[in-house]
Amino acid sequence: MENIIQFVYIASASLFILSLKWMSEVKTSRWGNWAGTAGMALAILATLLKPEIHSFLWIAIGIVIGASIGTPMAMLMPMTAVPQRTALSHAFGALAAGIVGSAEYFLHGANLSMPQLIVLCVEVLLGFLTFTGSLLAFGKLQEIIPTRPILYPGRNLVSLSVFVFSLFLIAYLVIKGGSHPFLFGFIVCLSLLFGILLVLPIGGADMPTVISILNAYAGLSSSFMGFLLNNKLLIIAGALDGSSGLILSIQMCKAMNRSFTNVLFGGVGQILEVADPSRDGKIVKSLSPREASILFEAAKKVVVVPGYGMAAAQAQHVVKELTDVLENRNIEVKFAIHPVAGRMPGHMNVLLAEADVPYDKLVEMEEINPLFPETDIVLVVGANDITNPAARKNPGSPLYGMPILDVDKAKQILFIKRSMSTGFAGIDNDLFYSPKTIMLFGDAKKVLNELVISINSN
Ligand code: NDP
Repeated sequence: MENIIQFVYIASASLFILSLKWMSEVKTSRWGNWAGTAGMALAILATLLKPEIHSFLWIAIGIVIGASIGTPMAMLMPMTAVPQRTALSHAFGALAAGIVGSAEYFLHGANLSMPQLIVLCVEVLLGFLTFTGSLLAFGKLQEIIPTRPILYPGRNLVSLSVFVFSLFLIAYLVIKGGSHPFLFGFIVCLSLLFGILLVLPIGGADMPTVISILNAYAGLSSSFMGFLLNNKLLIIAGALDGSSGLILSIQMCKAMNRSFTNVLFGGVGQILEVADPSRDGKIVKSLSPREASILFEAAKKVVVVPGYGMAAAQAQHVVKELTDVLENRNIEVKFAIHPVAGRMPGHMNVLLAEADVPYDKLVEMEEINPLFPETDIVLVVGANDITNPAARKNPGSPLYGMPILDVDKAKQILFIKRSMSTGFAGIDNDLFYSPKTIMLFGDAKKVLNELVISINSN
């Protein structure tokens, strides 16, 4: 039986690796999803065959509770809430790792070797800090608590002290050996506190990156759990989870031109009480979709810039409709894809693929930027931060240094959004006041629908 289990574990690990490989490309991502699901189903089935399991009662209860939370969560949560959904999943996964580690300690703590104790303590530390960190991240993203960074003087020193003190206690516990339930409980409490201190000063546009970092911690914790339970699949799956979370965080930091330490300790995203005299007296031009439709009559090249607002309005299908209408009039249409548009990596690719926009129309930032000066109309659909020229021009802006789509270089810019509100980073966008810009105020789906009807009737 053990051989069968190990064989199934190898198949399952291979499926996890294939899943990651396939998910890295839009065309194969559905396969990736299936491979991951099949790998996990195999892993669970093989584990249920283990002879150590004497009763299935508690396992069945766990499956029923887990499925009754997970199924509605997967089906009912909108696409735009994926980051907070992911945060909740990490919280539950990390809690499970922390609880398993604690159970091991209370059951076998006195008999564990020094390396086993080290692995157990690191697993518990990572598990519990990820649990509270992820819950806090969920609360911030769901706006149950303020999304802004919560800052206080000496915060980095306080966090570092709690972390170093936890490590000191772990070292003491490991050297002393034996069972010290009180000390162990104290380490658990410090880990829970450290998770809160870690996420409290982070906010704004950095939250999705934090989720990804917490993903790495949760993966590492599971991997350590695998060492402890001598479960090779858990080691592999945890390592894959941890490393992919880390790679994703690095890619997101690169796309925002930020360093890891700046995201974790920079406190970026707080409301800056800076007077903005440049806004005073500036003129904002706006048109109705009917009036704006005339502008397309003279256009030859149009670039659509989708952003979070397109996702929020679920406007991807009507964007495709508009593309067809314009192409029927011999207007060339391309889509400019910014790596951090929306609220998760690949967000725009997924939505546009869902609406059957051909992949070859989606152009990455580096390739589309040189084309903006010869673009007649840029139609920005619910995007804001990714077009903000302050990222290039204003060293005082929290967005400074983030590569953006150079839409300001196009001949005409149409912004579809509901108001003059800021985007995720909470920063005003000077482009709204440019003489080349026209605002089309309203929900993206509604405005685009009216635009399609008007262009068709012109
Ligand atoms: P933004 O959050 O900057 O702006 C979105 C705009 O959409 C808002 O200004 C809002 O304005 C508008 N909007 C919202 N709902 C609607 C609607 N129903 N109809 C029309 N407009 C709407 O989004 P971007 O995509 O430009 O930028 C993404 C941000 O997220 C960046 O700051 C990025 O750094 C951050 N981020 C993204 C990550 C990712 O992986 N994608 C990861 C890390 C960070 P109004 O309220 O006036 O309508």
